[in-house]
Amino acid sequence: MEGNARFVAGNPLCRPTIAQVRELASGQSPFATVLACADSRVPVETLFDHDPGDIFVVRLAGNFVSDAALASIEYATAVLKSPLVMVLGHTSCGAVQAAVEYARTGIKLPGHMHMLVDAILPAAKACEHQPGDWWGNAVVENARLNARTLRESKPVMTQALENGHQIVGAVYDLSTGKVSLL
Ligand SMILES: [Zn+2]
Repeated sequence: MEGNARFVAGNPLCRPTIAQVRELASGQSPFATVLACADSRVPVETLFDHDPGDIFVVRLAGNFVSDAALASIEYATAVLKSPLVMVLGHTSCGAVQAAVEYARTGIKLPGHMHMLVDAILPAAKACEHQPGDWWGNAVVENARLNARTLRESKPVMTQALENGHQIVGAVYDLSTGKVSLL
């Protein structure tokens, strides 16, 4: 969060160098794991002002806990001992919008894209009758629900929590660059 504050203030400290890259070739010890959207406007290391080696990043459209995402997060948590997982949603997420549109219209996306909608639909439906902006609320709900899915995932993640690891949800605002914890 301190790194994000530096990024928002326009005072980033991190400038990855080839010397760092060489140093990291022998191993990694990321202090955090972030499950973020594949959206090109969510560059995780940049928006947290961190260098290569600091953050284990898993990205897929809609930042949900697919089996493959979970396997990667378990690896970071159990093998690399990364002590913090953040599920990072973002404002104006197209994948979340697709799920809201499907809940509204029932029109399916072609090819494999409907997998995204299926995964995000619970968050979209949970917000259907909430006051305010359905899309915006669903972005928050999707990050919250997927953080909960990770917290309840047995046995690796539940064991990690017992050992002091943390799992949090957050949302990145595309227009301000700010990350807000949920
Ligand atoms: Zn997105």
